[in-house]
Amino acid sequence: MPGATDQTLRPFLWRAANLYPDTEIVSRTHEGVERYTYDEYDDRTAQLANALEAHGIEAGDRVGTFCWNHHRHFETYFAVPTIGAQLHTINPLLPDEHIRYIVDNADDELIFVDESLAPKLASAAADASEFEGVDFVVMSSSETDAVEATPYESFLEGHDTAYDWPVLDEERPAGMCYTSGTTGNPKGVEYTHEMLWSHTMATLTPQGIPMADDDVVMPVVPMFHVNAWGMPFTATAGGAKHVYPGPSPDPADVAALIEDEGVTITAGVPTVWLGLMEYAEDNDLDLSALDTVVVGGSAAPESMIRWFDDRGVELLHAWGMTEMSPIGSVSHLKSSLQDADYDTQLEHRAKQGMLTPGLEMKVIDENGREVPWDGEEFGELWVRGPWVTTEYFKRPEANEEDFEVPASGASGESEDGTSSGRWLKTGDVVTVDEEGYITLVDRAKDVIKSGGEWISSVELENAVMAHDDVAEAAVVGVPHERWQERPVAFVVPADGADESTLEAEVMEMLGEDYPKWWLPDNVEFIEEIPKTATGKFSKKDIRERHTDESLVEGRVPEEAAPNDD
Ligand code: AMP
Repeated sequence: MPGATDQTLRPFLWRAANLYPDTEIVSRTHEGVERYTYDEYDDRTAQLANALEAHGIEAGDRVGTFCWNHHRHFETYFAVPTIGAQLHTINPLLPDEHIRYIVDNADDELIFVDESLAPKLASAAADASEFEGVDFVVMSSSETDAVEATPYESFLEGHDTAYDWPVLDEERPAGMCYTSGTTGNPKGVEYTHEMLWSHTMATLTPQGIPMADDDVVMPVVPMFHVNAWGMPFTATAGGAKHVYPGPSPDPADVAALIEDEGVTITAGVPTVWLGLMEYAEDNDLDLSALDTVVVGGSAAPESMIRWFDDRGVELLHAWGMTEMSPIGSVSHLKSSLQDADYDTQLEHRAKQGMLTPGLEMKVIDENGREVPWDGEEFGELWVRGPWVTTEYFKRPEANEEDFEVPASGASGESEDGTSSGRWLKTGDVVTVDEEGYITLVDRAKDVIKSGGEWISSVELENAVMAHDDVAEAAVVGVPHERWQERPVAFVVPADGADESTLEAEVMEMLGEDYPKWWLPDNVEFIEEIPKTATGKFSKKDIRERHTDESLVEGRVPEEAAPNDD
């Protein structure tokens, strides 16, 4: 028997507004720190729903946002999907041509834009046919010079604080986000209500990132990318207090909000926490309220886990993808490891973790064979489940590459004619240990192939970054006549590091743990590692800017062959 309604987002807010009307939503904006309650949030969400309708937005229309993390952006998170329209969060850090492509591809009707990001949007929209017919609302109470836009507060003004929310079909698209596209155009991923609902419910479990009514949740991870890892929805479902850090928060802003608002759970990419750790060197930092820091998007170094452990804060390492709404695994400590020594525990916690309940996975090697869970053999990670997409938006050629149909569904469709059962080929190369912990060895396209064997660029860069005088490091394969590719490390020295001795020290340190043929042929010092629009190392840019064969020519020792030690 089906339930009376489908799995949709509206009940999460209904419950929070009715059970926790006085719980706060706090937001750092251009105007300072603003706060209100779920009760007011619910009213303003209804006003926004009415305003959208009055503007002509209908079920099925796409509404874009071009915003940092704040309460107004959060209002669009519930208002847009729960009237039956689709929320398309646009990453403002993308290049203009990608922004034009995705606004056109998604066919956005209306875009909410932050005042500080309006010049960037104006530059992408200037004389662009892709933006024809797109209206703008600026997220403030006054107009902006950059684009012709209605101020948000005027957009809402006069609209009713009640709205007759429709009962929606769970298959209806609720959200949308584009992958940041390391090659070619970004690919759109649609999130149905069911995907976001099931992602929220799985995140609430003890094996996810549970949030409850005594939590204070601050997503530092941007709301413009994969719904800030779903945290605004999960925090609402759990009845938690929300804290939004606003436009380009720096470590001092993050620290102040943690202290002043009593944040218990926060999340972000490693760079955010490296910044906070550096800030703590010169400033007193009170982390007594903080229970959990979730780190993902790139690998969390072991030293970071230790740093937070020393301050009584649990670092949860999580892995995921835009295609997975995005949480796929979290590195909780299994009960069987509770009595293990600290180093063994740390070794497991530093891995990408155990698959989230509700998902399935397998690891496939180059010959299409499933690899054993022995922590050694690696292959590409394939996943499927309720919150994993089964296709890209209007990109059939990418679908063929990135999705695999199960053998039983030869046509690519299951018995009921849907695409369920399809595996997503993640492009991440992993090992899985006997306990079931996933370790991300590399992105498939970044693995270094030397003399027919694979070298993990991720493992090498983490090892280089363990040196105290290294701020950041990226390792990429450089073409080589004899060995196909050889690793070169690009290193940003920490402030005050002595570059004349650093290369030798790094090489000596690596030599203690890795075979000779793994060791980088060269260490190049650079000022900054180029990053993608989602804060990951952009190896494509490093390759384009820095790598040519001269970096390794004549420097590879004869013994740099696999199997020689
Ligand atoms: P995105 O779709 O932009 O969220 O990027 C997803 C990709 O980020 C994954 O396929 C991984 O390659 C990488 N990634 C995400 N989380 C982690 C993590 N904890 N450690 C290493 N890489 C990660």
